Amino acid sequence: MPSTDARSNLAGSVLRPLWLDTPDRPEPRAPLSAADTSRTRGLVVVGGGFTGLWAAVRAKEREPSRDVLLLEGERIAEHATGRNGGFCEASLTHGEGNGRERWPEEYDELEVLGLRNLDEIAATIERHGIDCGFDRSGVLAVATRPHEVAGLEPDVEGFLDATAVRRVLASPTYLAGRVSRDDCATLDPARLAWGLARVAETLGVRIAEHSPVEGITQRRDHVELTTLGLTLRAEQVVLATNVFRPLLRRLRMSIVPVYDYVLATEPLTPAQVEAIGWTDRVGVSDSGNQFHYYRLTPDDRILWGGYDAIYHFGRSVDTAHEDRTESFETLARNFAETFPQLQDVRFTHRWAGAIDTCTRFCAFFGVTRGRRIAYATGFTGLGVGASRFGADVMLDLLAGEPTERTRLRMVREKPLPFPPEPIAWIGIQLTRWSLAREDATGRRNLWLRLLDRLGLGFDS
Ligand SMILES: Cc1cc2nc3c(=O)[nH]c(=O)nc-3n(C[C@H](O)[C@H](O)[C@H](O)COP(=O)(O)OP(=O)(O)OC[C@H]3O[C@@H](n4cnc5c(N)ncnc54)[C@H](O)[C@@H]3O)c2cc1C
Repeated sequence: MPSTDARSNLAGSVLRPLWLDTPDRPEPRAPLSAADTSRTRGLVVVGGGFTGLWAAVRAKEREPSRDVLLLEGERIAEHATGRNGGFCEASLTHGEGNGRERWPEEYDELEVLGLRNLDEIAATIERHGIDCGFDRSGVLAVATRPHEVAGLEPDVEGFLDATAVRRVLASPTYLAGRVSRDDCATLDPARLAWGLARVAETLGVRIAEHSPVEGITQRRDHVELTTLGLTLRAEQVVLATNVFRPLLRRLRMSIVPVYDYVLATEPLTPAQVEAIGWTDRVGVSDSGNQFHYYRLTPDDRILWGGYDAIYHFGRSVDTAHEDRTESFETLARNFAETFPQLQDVRFTHRWAGAIDTCTRFCAFFGVTRGRRIAYATGFTGLGVGASRFGADVMLDLLAGEPTERTRLRMVREKPLPFPPEPIAWIGIQLTRWSLAREDATGRRNLWLRLLDRLGLGFDS
Protein backbone atom coordinates (compact mmCIF):
# COMPACT_ATOMS: atom_id res chain seq x y z
CA MET A 1 0.00 0.00 0.00
CA PRO A 2 1.48 3.40 -0.90
CA SER A 3 2.06 5.87 1.96
CA THR A 4 -0.69 8.14 0.64
CA ASP A 5 -3.28 5.36 1.09
CA ALA A 6 -1.94 4.53 4.55
CA ARG A 7 -2.21 8.22 5.36
CA SER A 8 -5.78 8.50 4.11
CA ASN A 9 -6.88 5.42 6.12
CA LEU A 10 -5.41 7.06 9.22
CA ALA A 11 -6.76 10.51 8.44
CA GLY A 12 -9.76 10.57 10.78
CA SER A 13 -8.07 8.74 13.66
CA VAL A 14 -7.73 10.25 17.12
CA LEU A 15 -4.54 9.97 19.17
CA ARG A 16 -6.19 8.18 22.09
CA PRO A 17 -6.14 4.61 23.41
CA LEU A 18 -9.31 2.89 22.23
CA TRP A 19 -9.92 1.25 25.61
CA LEU A 20 -9.88 4.56 27.50
CA ASP A 21 -12.09 6.36 24.97
CA THR A 22 -15.46 5.53 26.47
CA PRO A 23 -18.04 7.34 28.60
CA ASP A 24 -17.88 4.29 30.90
CA ARG A 25 -14.47 5.38 32.18
CA PRO A 26 -14.98 5.97 35.92
CA GLU A 27 -14.50 9.43 37.37
CA PRO A 28 -11.15 9.79 39.16
CA ARG A 29 -11.16 9.09 42.88
CA ALA A 30 -10.15 11.82 45.34
CA PRO A 31 -6.39 12.36 45.81
CA LEU A 32 -4.71 11.54 49.10
CA SER A 33 -5.83 13.87 51.87
CA ALA A 34 -4.42 14.77 55.28
CA ALA A 35 -7.08 12.51 56.86
CA ASP A 36 -5.61 9.51 55.00
CA THR A 37 -2.26 10.08 56.72
CA SER A 38 -3.54 10.12 60.30
CA ARG A 39 -2.42 6.53 61.01
CA THR A 40 0.35 4.19 59.86
CA ARG A 41 -1.10 2.19 56.98
CA GLY A 42 -0.57 -1.57 56.82
CA LEU A 43 0.27 -1.80 53.12
CA VAL A 44 0.68 1.04 50.64
CA VAL A 45 0.63 0.07 46.96
CA VAL A 46 2.23 2.58 44.56
CA GLY A 47 0.82 2.38 41.02
CA GLY A 48 -2.70 1.76 39.74
CA GLY A 49 -2.04 -0.48 36.75
CA PHE A 50 -2.57 -4.25 36.74
CA THR A 51 0.37 -4.97 39.04
CA GLY A 52 -0.76 -2.54 41.73
CA LEU A 53 -4.44 -3.42 41.41
CA TRP A 54 -3.78 -7.14 41.68
CA ALA A 55 -1.50 -6.50 44.66
CA ALA A 56 -4.29 -4.59 46.42
CA VAL A 57 -6.95 -7.20 45.62
CA ARG A 58 -4.72 -10.17 46.47
CA ALA A 59 -3.57 -8.56 49.74
CA LYS A 60 -7.20 -8.31 50.87
CA GLU A 61 -8.10 -11.79 49.59
CA ARG A 62 -5.14 -13.23 51.48
CA GLU A 63 -5.71 -11.22 54.65
CA PRO A 64 -9.12 -9.48 54.74
CA SER A 65 -8.32 -7.39 57.83
CA ARG A 66 -5.22 -5.84 56.24
CA ASP A 67 -5.30 -2.05 55.91
CA VAL A 68 -4.48 -1.35 52.23
CA LEU A 69 -4.12 2.00 50.47
CA LEU A 70 -3.32 2.36 46.75
CA LEU A 71 -1.74 5.56 45.37
CA GLU A 72 -1.90 6.23 41.63
CA GLY A 73 0.01 9.22 40.27
CA GLU A 74 -2.44 9.86 37.44
CA ARG A 75 -5.51 7.73 36.77
CA ILE A 76 -6.22 4.03 37.12
CA ALA A 77 -5.15 2.22 33.91
CA GLU A 78 -3.80 5.42 32.35
CA HIS A 79 -0.59 3.83 31.06
CA ALA A 80 0.36 0.34 29.81
CA THR A 81 -2.63 -1.24 31.53
CA GLY A 82 -5.13 0.85 29.55
CA ARG A 83 -3.17 0.77 26.28
CA ASN A 84 -2.24 -2.83 25.62
CA GLY A 85 -3.44 -5.41 23.11
CA GLY A 86 -5.47 -7.23 25.76
CA PHE A 87 -3.77 -10.59 25.19
CA CYS A 88 -3.91 -12.24 28.60
CA GLU A 89 -1.40 -15.07 28.33
CA ALA A 90 -0.58 -17.87 30.73
CA SER A 91 3.14 -17.48 30.04
CA LEU A 92 5.13 -15.98 32.91
CA THR A 93 8.37 -15.98 30.92
CA HIS A 94 7.43 -14.20 27.68
CA GLY A 95 6.98 -17.45 25.84
CA GLU A 96 8.25 -20.99 26.09
CA GLY A 97 11.51 -20.42 24.18
CA ASN A 98 12.67 -17.67 26.55
CA GLY A 99 11.57 -19.63 29.64
CA ARG A 100 13.14 -22.95 28.66
CA GLU A 101 16.37 -21.25 27.63
CA ARG A 102 16.80 -19.54 31.00
CA TRP A 103 15.22 -21.93 33.50
CA PRO A 104 15.09 -25.35 31.80
CA GLU A 105 14.89 -27.36 35.02
CA GLU A 106 11.86 -25.47 36.35
CA TYR A 107 10.10 -24.53 33.13
CA ASP A 108 7.40 -27.22 33.48
CA GLU A 109 6.55 -25.85 36.91
CA LEU A 110 6.47 -22.28 35.55
CA GLU A 111 4.02 -23.45 32.91
CA VAL A 112 1.73 -25.04 35.51
CA LEU A 113 1.86 -21.90 37.67
CA GLY A 114 1.16 -19.70 34.63
CA LEU A 115 -1.90 -21.72 33.62
CA ARG A 116 -3.17 -21.67 37.19
CA ASN A 117 -2.63 -17.89 37.29
CA LEU A 118 -4.72 -17.50 34.12
CA ASP A 119 -7.43 -19.78 35.55
CA GLU A 120 -7.54 -17.65 38.68
CA ILE A 121 -7.82 -14.44 36.64
CA ALA A 122 -10.78 -16.03 34.83
CA ALA A 123 -12.29 -17.07 38.18
CA THR A 124 -11.93 -13.55 39.64
CA ILE A 125 -13.60 -12.02 36.57
CA GLU A 126 -16.43 -14.53 36.82
CA ARG A 127 -16.84 -14.26 40.61
CA HIS A 128 -17.08 -10.47 40.60
CA GLY A 129 -18.98 -10.14 37.32
CA ILE A 130 -16.30 -7.95 35.69
CA ASP A 131 -17.61 -7.17 32.21
CA CYS A 132 -14.33 -7.06 30.25
CA GLY A 133 -15.04 -9.28 27.24
CA PHE A 134 -12.84 -12.09 28.57
CA ASP A 135 -12.67 -14.67 25.78
CA ARG A 136 -10.39 -17.71 26.03
CA SER A 137 -10.25 -18.47 22.30
CA GLY A 138 -6.47 -18.72 22.33
CA VAL A 139 -3.85 -17.38 20.00
CA LEU A 140 -2.86 -18.18 16.42
CA ALA A 141 0.85 -17.88 15.63
CA VAL A 142 1.45 -17.34 11.92
CA ALA A 143 4.50 -17.44 9.65
CA THR A 144 4.59 -14.89 6.85
CA ARG A 145 8.15 -15.57 5.61
CA PRO A 146 9.50 -18.97 4.51
CA HIS A 147 12.23 -19.04 7.18
CA GLU A 148 9.61 -18.61 9.93
CA VAL A 149 7.75 -21.84 9.09
CA ALA A 150 10.21 -24.16 10.87
CA GLY A 151 9.61 -22.33 14.17
CA LEU A 152 5.99 -23.53 14.04
CA GLU A 153 7.18 -27.15 14.11
CA PRO A 154 5.76 -28.69 10.91
CA ASP A 155 6.34 -32.21 12.27
CA VAL A 156 4.36 -31.72 15.45
CA GLU A 157 0.60 -32.33 15.62
CA GLY A 158 -1.47 -29.16 15.27
CA PHE A 159 0.72 -27.58 12.58
CA LEU A 160 -1.37 -25.71 10.01
CA ASP A 161 -0.06 -25.44 6.47
CA ALA A 162 -0.91 -22.45 4.28
CA THR A 163 -4.30 -23.80 3.24
CA ALA A 164 -5.28 -24.80 6.76
CA VAL A 165 -4.18 -21.55 8.41
CA ARG A 166 -6.05 -19.46 5.83
CA ARG A 167 -9.19 -21.39 6.80
CA VAL A 168 -8.77 -20.04 10.35
CA LEU A 169 -8.17 -16.50 9.08
CA ALA A 170 -7.95 -15.53 5.43
CA SER A 171 -4.74 -13.60 4.81
CA PRO A 172 -2.78 -14.16 1.61
CA THR A 173 0.42 -13.50 3.58
CA TYR A 174 0.10 -16.62 5.78
CA LEU A 175 2.41 -19.52 4.99
CA ALA A 176 1.77 -21.60 8.11
CA GLY A 177 0.26 -21.39 11.57
CA ARG A 178 -0.37 -23.01 14.91
CA VAL A 179 -3.21 -22.34 17.33
CA SER A 180 -2.87 -22.77 21.05
CA ARG A 181 -6.25 -22.59 22.69
CA ASP A 182 -6.07 -22.79 26.45
CA ASP A 183 -3.15 -20.56 27.33
CA CYS A 184 -4.38 -17.19 26.10
CA ALA A 185 -7.50 -15.08 26.44
CA THR A 186 -8.31 -11.70 24.98
CA LEU A 187 -10.01 -9.02 27.01
CA ASP A 188 -10.66 -5.30 27.33
CA PRO A 189 -7.80 -4.33 29.67
CA ALA A 190 -9.20 -1.01 30.85
CA ARG A 191 -12.51 -2.61 31.85
CA LEU A 192 -10.62 -5.33 33.70
CA ALA A 193 -8.58 -2.69 35.56
CA TRP A 194 -11.65 -0.62 36.43
CA GLY A 195 -13.36 -3.82 37.60
CA LEU A 196 -10.39 -4.74 39.78
CA ALA A 197 -10.39 -1.25 41.30
CA ARG A 198 -14.08 -1.67 42.15
CA VAL A 199 -13.41 -5.12 43.67
CA ALA A 200 -10.51 -3.70 45.71
CA GLU A 201 -12.75 -0.99 47.10
CA THR A 202 -15.48 -3.49 47.90
CA LEU A 203 -12.88 -5.42 49.89
CA GLY A 204 -12.01 -2.22 51.79
CA VAL A 205 -9.03 -0.76 49.89
CA ARG A 206 -8.77 3.04 49.77
CA ILE A 207 -7.69 4.17 46.28
CA ALA A 208 -6.33 7.69 45.76
CA GLU A 209 -5.74 8.95 42.20
CA HIS A 210 -3.67 11.95 41.11
CA SER A 211 -1.36 11.20 44.02
CA PRO A 212 2.20 10.75 42.68
CA VAL A 213 4.69 9.43 45.23
CA GLU A 214 7.77 11.63 45.12
CA GLY A 215 9.97 9.95 47.67
CA ILE A 216 10.24 6.93 49.87
CA THR A 217 12.41 6.73 53.00
CA GLN A 218 12.95 3.93 55.42
CA ARG A 219 12.58 4.77 59.12
CA ARG A 220 13.31 2.44 62.03
CA ASP A 221 9.91 0.73 62.17
CA HIS A 222 8.06 2.01 59.11
CA VAL A 223 8.45 3.48 55.62
CA GLU A 224 7.68 7.11 54.86
CA LEU A 225 6.18 8.14 51.52
CA THR A 226 5.73 11.69 50.35
CA THR A 227 3.06 12.88 47.94
CA LEU A 228 1.23 16.17 47.39
CA GLY A 229 3.18 17.72 50.27
CA LEU A 230 1.85 15.06 52.66
CA THR A 231 3.84 12.41 54.51
CA LEU A 232 2.37 8.96 54.84
CA ARG A 233 3.61 6.12 57.05
CA ALA A 234 3.35 2.49 55.99
CA GLU A 235 4.38 -0.79 57.56
CA GLN A 236 5.05 -2.22 54.10
CA VAL A 237 5.07 -0.94 50.52
CA VAL A 238 4.51 -2.53 47.13
CA LEU A 239 6.08 -0.71 44.19
CA ALA A 240 4.14 -1.28 40.96
CA THR A 241 5.34 1.69 38.92
CA ASN A 242 6.35 -0.24 35.80
CA VAL A 243 8.34 1.86 33.32
CA PHE A 244 8.32 5.07 35.35
CA ARG A 245 11.30 6.45 37.23
CA PRO A 246 11.85 3.84 39.95
CA LEU A 247 11.56 5.05 43.52
CA LEU A 248 14.38 2.65 44.39
CA ARG A 249 17.71 3.75 42.98
CA ARG A 250 18.87 0.13 42.53
CA LEU A 251 16.27 -0.41 39.79
CA ARG A 252 17.27 2.54 37.62
CA MET A 253 19.57 0.58 35.30
CA SER A 254 17.41 -2.55 35.17
CA ILE A 255 14.71 -1.43 32.75
CA VAL A 256 14.48 0.74 29.64
CA PRO A 257 11.27 2.19 28.17
CA VAL A 258 10.50 1.00 24.64
CA TYR A 259 7.54 2.54 22.82
CA ASP A 260 5.04 0.26 21.13
CA TYR A 261 2.40 1.56 18.67
CA VAL A 262 -1.18 0.45 18.10
CA LEU A 263 -4.08 1.15 15.73
CA ALA A 264 -7.78 0.27 15.95
CA THR A 265 -10.17 0.19 13.02
CA GLU A 266 -13.78 1.22 12.93
CA PRO A 267 -16.15 -1.67 13.80
CA LEU A 268 -16.23 -4.13 10.90
CA THR A 269 -19.54 -5.00 9.28
CA PRO A 270 -20.59 -8.69 9.39
CA ALA A 271 -19.70 -8.85 5.66
CA GLN A 272 -16.17 -7.57 6.36
CA VAL A 273 -15.68 -10.09 9.18
CA GLU A 274 -16.86 -12.81 6.82
CA ALA A 275 -14.53 -11.61 4.05
CA ILE A 276 -11.55 -12.47 6.25
CA GLY A 277 -13.26 -15.46 7.88
CA TRP A 278 -12.47 -14.35 11.44
CA THR A 279 -15.20 -16.30 13.14
CA ASP A 280 -13.74 -17.75 16.32
CA ARG A 281 -12.15 -14.57 17.78
CA VAL A 282 -8.72 -16.14 18.15
CA GLY A 283 -5.95 -13.55 18.71
CA VAL A 284 -3.06 -13.49 16.24
CA SER A 285 0.65 -12.89 16.44
CA ASP A 286 3.12 -13.16 13.57
CA SER A 287 6.49 -14.77 13.98
CA GLY A 288 9.11 -12.14 13.12
CA ASN A 289 11.28 -10.32 15.64
CA GLN A 290 9.34 -7.24 14.61
CA PHE A 291 5.97 -8.86 15.12
CA HIS A 292 2.39 -7.66 14.90
CA TYR A 293 -0.28 -8.70 17.39
CA TYR A 294 -3.90 -8.30 16.41
CA ARG A 295 -7.36 -9.30 17.50
CA LEU A 296 -11.04 -8.52 17.23
CA THR A 297 -12.42 -6.30 19.96
CA PRO A 298 -15.80 -7.05 21.55
CA ASP A 299 -17.40 -4.58 19.08
CA ASP A 300 -15.64 -6.16 16.06
CA ARG A 301 -12.89 -3.64 15.44
CA ILE A 302 -9.45 -4.94 14.63
CA LEU A 303 -6.80 -3.85 17.12
CA TRP A 304 -3.51 -3.96 15.23
CA GLY A 305 -0.27 -3.29 17.12
CA GLY A 306 3.44 -3.95 17.36
CA TYR A 307 6.22 -4.06 14.76
CA ASP A 308 8.18 -0.93 15.66
CA ALA A 309 9.82 -0.79 19.09
CA ILE A 310 11.30 2.64 19.67
CA TYR A 311 13.79 3.57 22.39
CA HIS A 312 14.56 7.23 23.10
CA PHE A 313 17.96 8.34 24.33
CA GLY A 314 18.36 8.68 28.08
CA ARG A 315 15.50 6.29 29.00
CA SER A 316 13.11 9.08 28.14
CA VAL A 317 9.41 8.60 28.94
CA ASP A 318 7.41 11.45 27.44
CA THR A 319 3.93 11.83 25.91
CA ALA A 320 5.67 13.58 22.98
CA HIS A 321 6.95 10.14 21.87
CA GLU A 322 3.42 8.82 21.44
CA ASP A 323 2.50 10.45 18.10
CA ARG A 324 4.97 8.86 15.68
CA THR A 325 3.62 9.18 12.14
CA GLU A 326 6.22 6.85 10.66
CA SER A 327 5.27 3.98 12.99
CA PHE A 328 1.52 4.47 12.45
CA GLU A 329 1.94 4.54 8.67
CA THR A 330 4.06 1.39 8.75
CA LEU A 331 1.34 -0.32 10.78
CA ALA A 332 -1.36 0.84 8.32
CA ARG A 333 0.65 -0.40 5.32
CA ASN A 334 1.32 -3.78 6.93
CA PHE A 335 -2.37 -4.09 7.81
CA ALA A 336 -3.35 -3.51 4.17
CA GLU A 337 -0.87 -6.15 3.03
CA THR A 338 -2.25 -8.66 5.54
CA PHE A 339 -5.91 -7.97 4.78
CA PRO A 340 -6.28 -6.64 1.22
CA GLN A 341 -9.99 -7.51 1.57
CA LEU A 342 -10.29 -4.56 4.01
CA GLN A 343 -8.62 -1.83 1.99
CA ASP A 344 -11.42 0.70 2.64
CA VAL A 345 -11.51 0.16 6.39
CA ARG A 346 -10.62 3.30 8.34
CA PHE A 347 -8.60 3.55 11.53
CA THR A 348 -10.39 5.45 14.27
CA HIS A 349 -7.73 5.30 17.02
CA ARG A 350 -3.96 5.40 17.17
CA TRP A 351 -1.87 5.36 20.33
CA ALA A 352 1.36 4.26 21.94
CA GLY A 353 2.58 3.04 25.28
CA ALA A 354 5.93 2.50 26.92
CA ILE A 355 7.04 -1.05 27.68
CA ASP A 356 9.25 -1.81 30.71
CA THR A 357 11.92 -3.83 28.94
CA CYS A 358 14.55 -5.77 30.88
CA THR A 359 17.40 -7.91 29.62
CA ARG A 360 15.76 -11.23 30.51
CA PHE A 361 12.52 -10.30 28.74
CA CYS A 362 10.15 -11.12 31.60
CA ALA A 363 9.32 -9.70 35.02
CA PHE A 364 11.70 -9.73 37.93
CA PHE A 365 10.94 -9.23 41.61
CA GLY A 366 12.58 -8.29 44.87
CA VAL A 367 12.19 -7.20 48.46
CA THR A 368 14.39 -4.78 50.35
CA ARG A 369 14.76 -2.59 53.46
CA GLY A 370 14.21 -5.36 56.00
CA ARG A 371 11.26 -6.82 54.10
CA ARG A 372 9.37 -3.54 54.03
CA ILE A 373 9.44 -2.71 50.28
CA ALA A 374 8.73 -5.15 47.45
CA TYR A 375 8.77 -4.56 43.70
CA ALA A 376 7.85 -6.29 40.44
CA THR A 377 8.74 -4.82 37.07
CA GLY A 378 10.28 -5.63 33.69
CA PHE A 379 7.27 -7.43 32.16
CA THR A 380 8.64 -6.49 28.70
CA GLY A 381 5.29 -6.36 26.95
CA LEU A 382 3.65 -9.43 28.48
CA GLY A 383 2.21 -8.33 31.79
CA VAL A 384 -1.56 -8.52 31.42
CA GLY A 385 -1.61 -12.00 32.94
CA ALA A 386 1.82 -12.14 34.59
CA SER A 387 1.09 -9.01 36.69
CA ARG A 388 -1.18 -11.09 38.94
CA PHE A 389 1.62 -13.60 39.51
CA GLY A 390 3.99 -10.67 40.19
CA ALA A 391 1.57 -9.29 42.77
CA ASP A 392 1.48 -12.62 44.61
CA VAL A 393 5.27 -12.87 44.52
CA MET A 394 5.58 -9.42 46.13
CA LEU A 395 3.10 -10.37 48.88
CA ASP A 396 4.98 -13.65 49.47
CA LEU A 397 8.28 -11.76 49.76
CA LEU A 398 6.81 -9.21 52.18
CA ALA A 399 5.34 -12.03 54.30
CA GLY A 400 8.77 -13.69 54.42
CA GLU A 401 7.26 -17.17 54.09
CA PRO A 402 8.84 -19.37 51.41
CA THR A 403 6.24 -20.42 48.82
CA GLU A 404 6.25 -22.42 45.59
CA ARG A 405 6.76 -19.06 43.86
CA THR A 406 9.60 -17.65 45.93
CA ARG A 407 11.54 -20.90 45.71
CA LEU A 408 11.79 -20.54 41.91
CA ARG A 409 15.14 -19.56 40.44
CA MET A 410 13.15 -17.37 38.04
CA VAL A 411 11.88 -15.40 41.05
CA ARG A 412 15.18 -15.28 42.96
CA GLU A 413 17.39 -14.21 40.04
CA LYS A 414 17.69 -10.65 38.73
CA PRO A 415 18.39 -9.59 35.13
CA LEU A 416 21.67 -8.02 34.09
CA PRO A 417 21.36 -4.23 34.08
CA PHE A 418 21.55 -2.13 30.91
CA PRO A 419 24.74 -0.09 30.46
CA PRO A 420 24.73 3.71 30.92
CA GLU A 421 24.27 6.10 27.98
CA PRO A 422 25.41 6.44 25.29
CA ILE A 423 26.25 2.72 25.27
CA ALA A 424 22.64 1.71 26.01
CA TRP A 425 21.36 3.75 23.06
CA ILE A 426 24.00 2.44 20.66
CA GLY A 427 23.45 -1.16 21.80
CA ILE A 428 19.66 -0.94 21.46
CA GLN A 429 19.86 0.63 17.96
CA LEU A 430 22.33 -2.04 16.85
CA THR A 431 20.04 -4.72 18.22
CA ARG A 432 16.97 -3.28 16.44
CA TRP A 433 18.88 -3.12 13.16
CA SER A 434 20.12 -6.70 13.59
CA LEU A 435 16.64 -8.02 14.41
CA ALA A 436 15.22 -6.35 11.29
CA ARG A 437 18.03 -7.95 9.22
CA GLU A 438 17.22 -11.34 10.69
CA ASP A 439 13.56 -10.87 9.74
CA ALA A 440 14.61 -10.12 6.16
CA THR A 441 17.28 -12.81 5.78
CA GLY A 442 16.46 -15.49 8.35
CA ARG A 443 20.03 -15.28 9.71
CA ARG A 444 21.21 -14.12 13.14
CA ASN A 445 24.26 -11.90 12.81
CA LEU A 446 27.33 -11.80 15.06
CA TRP A 447 25.85 -9.17 17.39
CA LEU A 448 22.69 -11.21 18.06
CA ARG A 449 24.74 -14.35 18.57
CA LEU A 450 26.90 -12.50 21.07
CA LEU A 451 23.79 -11.35 22.96
CA ASP A 452 22.48 -14.93 22.92
CA ARG A 453 25.72 -16.12 24.44
CA LEU A 454 25.53 -13.46 27.16
CA GLY A 455 21.95 -14.53 27.94
CA LEU A 456 20.47 -11.16 26.95
CA GLY A 457 17.04 -11.96 25.59
CA PHE A 458 15.96 -10.13 22.50
CA ASP A 459 14.25 -13.08 20.89
CA SER A 460 10.59 -12.36 21.59
C1 LIG B 1 1.16 -0.76 23.57
C2 LIG B 1 1.28 -1.90 24.54
C3 LIG B 1 0.74 -3.15 24.21
C4 LIG B 1 0.84 -4.22 25.10
N1 LIG B 1 0.21 -5.38 24.82
C5 LIG B 1 0.19 -6.39 25.74
C6 LIG B 1 -0.59 -7.56 25.54
O1 LIG B 1 -1.33 -7.68 24.57
N2 LIG B 1 -0.49 -8.55 26.47
C7 LIG B 1 0.28 -8.44 27.58
O2 LIG B 1 0.34 -9.36 28.38
N3 LIG B 1 0.97 -7.29 27.83
C8 LIG B 1 0.92 -6.27 26.96
N4 LIG B 1 1.58 -5.10 27.24
C9 LIG B 1 2.24 -4.97 28.54
C10 LIG B 1 1.23 -4.75 29.67
O3 LIG B 1 0.34 -3.73 29.30
C11 LIG B 1 1.99 -4.36 30.93
O4 LIG B 1 2.96 -5.35 31.22
C12 LIG B 1 1.08 -4.24 32.15
O5 LIG B 1 -0.05 -3.45 31.88
C13 LIG B 1 1.91 -3.62 33.26
O6 LIG B 1 1.08 -3.20 34.28
P1 LIG B 1 1.72 -2.33 35.45
O7 LIG B 1 0.69 -2.16 36.48
O8 LIG B 1 3.00 -2.98 35.88
O9 LIG B 1 2.13 -0.97 34.76
P2 LIG B 1 1.27 0.34 34.37
O10 LIG B 1 -0.01 -0.02 33.73
O11 LIG B 1 2.20 1.23 33.61
O12 LIG B 1 0.96 0.98 35.75
C14 LIG B 1 1.93 1.65 36.52
C15 LIG B 1 1.21 2.81 37.17
O13 LIG B 1 2.07 3.39 38.14
C16 LIG B 1 1.81 4.77 38.16
N5 LIG B 1 2.99 5.41 38.76
C17 LIG B 1 4.25 5.45 38.28
N6 LIG B 1 5.06 6.09 39.12
C18 LIG B 1 4.30 6.47 40.18
C19 LIG B 1 4.56 7.18 41.37
N7 LIG B 1 5.79 7.61 41.67
N8 LIG B 1 3.53 7.41 42.22
C20 LIG B 1 2.26 6.96 41.95
N9 LIG B 1 1.96 6.29 40.82
C21 LIG B 1 2.97 6.04 39.95
C22 LIG B 1 1.61 5.15 36.70
O14 LIG B 1 0.88 6.36 36.56
C23 LIG B 1 0.87 3.93 36.18
O15 LIG B 1 -0.55 4.12 36.17
C24 LIG B 1 1.52 -4.03 26.35
C25 LIG B 1 2.06 -2.79 26.67
C26 LIG B 1 1.93 -1.73 25.79
C27 LIG B 1 2.50 -0.39 26.18
